Amino acid sequence: MAMKEFKEKVLLKSESAWSQIDAAEKEAVFSFSENYKKFLDEGKTERECAIYMEEEAKTKGFKNILDVIAEGKPIKAGDKIYGNNRDKSIIFFVIGKEDIERGMHIVGGHIDAPRIDLKQRPLYEDADMALLKTHYYGGIKKYQWVASPLALHGRLIKENGEIVDICIGEDENDPVFMITDLLPHLGKDQAAKKLGEGITGEGLNLLIGSMPLDDEDEKEKVKLNIMSMLYEKYGIVEADFETAEIEIVPAGKARDLGFDRSMISAYGHDDRVCSYAGFEALLEIDVPEKTAVGMFMDKEEVGSQGNTGSESAYFEHCVAELINLQTEKYSELLVRRALSNTQVLSADVSAAFDPNFADVYDRKNSGFIGKGLQIMKYTGSRGKGGSSDANAEYLAVVRKIFNDNHVVWQTGELGKVDQGGGGTIAYILANAGAEVVDCGVPVLSMHAPYEVISKIDLYMAYKGYKAFLNR
Ligand code: MN
Ligand code: MN
Repeated sequence: MAMKEFKEKVLLKSESAWSQIDAAEKEAVFSFSENYKKFLDEGKTERECAIYMEEEAKTKGFKNILDVIAEGKPIKAGDKIYGNNRDKSIIFFVIGKEDIERGMHIVGGHIDAPRIDLKQRPLYEDADMALLKTHYYGGIKKYQWVASPLALHGRLIKENGEIVDICIGEDENDPVFMITDLLPHLGKDQAAKKLGEGITGEGLNLLIGSMPLDDEDEKEKVKLNIMSMLYEKYGIVEADFETAEIEIVPAGKARDLGFDRSMISAYGHDDRVCSYAGFEALLEIDVPEKTAVGMFMDKEEVGSQGNTGSESAYFEHCVAELINLQTEKYSELLVRRALSNTQVLSADVSAAFDPNFADVYDRKNSGFIGKGLQIMKYTGSRGKGGSSDANAEYLAVVRKIFNDNHVVWQTGELGKVDQGGGGTIAYILANAGAEVVDCGVPVLSMHAPYEVISKIDLYMAYKGYKAFLNR
């Protein structure tokens, strides 16, 4: 064997994914990205994403699990079923030829994203301005959210039960809102603070108005003016905020990034990029051998708790219901078998190597923008604390699937050892006995109002997830 061939054989290469695809696939990368941008623009909250996915899936023949249960007929291979958990997390099933008891293939991501929520009594007036008090959600760097246009999305429910969904700040003709920052001229004390303390949690107050309503008896005339406008437009009163869920997110649309348009700048890539790739992959599964599942969950950014997070029993309930419709002798044991025979790609983003902050990464074991779908054998922090650490046998299975299907992929971990760390939903299904590995798209500026991903990594995620589910 010539040395050149020998080197090809024994040495690991790390090439750009762009140089490993042909012109036709490059076109597919760009057209897939166009649809992804539309999804991001329509889905800026977990609720909006779940509703988008439900509507889309219904057009592809998916039926609500509640209707399937009510019908009570046995399910069969190729049936497409979804469970919508309170419009906040949503799980799709394409029933396989084998019984569910034999295991499933799952791609699981999350559709919540770091943001700023309104407090329950948000509205107040100060210095002739109306503001909303907030409580941030997830791991944000607070200084990134000031002096930048923001939009309000969410749901209020009036005392009479009427639902008011709002979305203000996204249309070109809408007003936007903003959290103000201090001018540098007076920023001497602020600039001397630690970066994480320059803007405080209680300082994240959203500016929403400055015009008074003429009323001699009222002290807070600007606040009154805002309430009168809200009452006129939506019929809502101040007390309706106390039971509402309203989220503040960056205003504006997803945009191509770079002269070559190879990347996308947008709010919420974490983790809508993996969720969208998994969702689109699942929609294309016809009749798999094993039941294919796409689960797109809420509350990951705050620890996966709550009845819409991955820790909730909702997924297991759905599996139990489906097994009950598949066999005449349902038992709890079948559900346990199903979960422990299952293979999962925990589809969440990873930190892409950033040359501006090279010293926090191990360059040899990092994910890179444009090098494809990234497998993370383990996450966690310190000595792999909190990690589910995938088994070598399972990684070998995933490697073969990706290679057989020409998926460009890379491995990497989240930064240098002892630099910090993170984790996602992998451990939850791993605890139920499933094989799980983290596998997602590398992101720059993760958790910032505008994050960056590569279009080819998105496409390779879709291709990889589809190959994984379609068997
Ligand atoms: Mn994530
Ligand atoms: Mn995150």
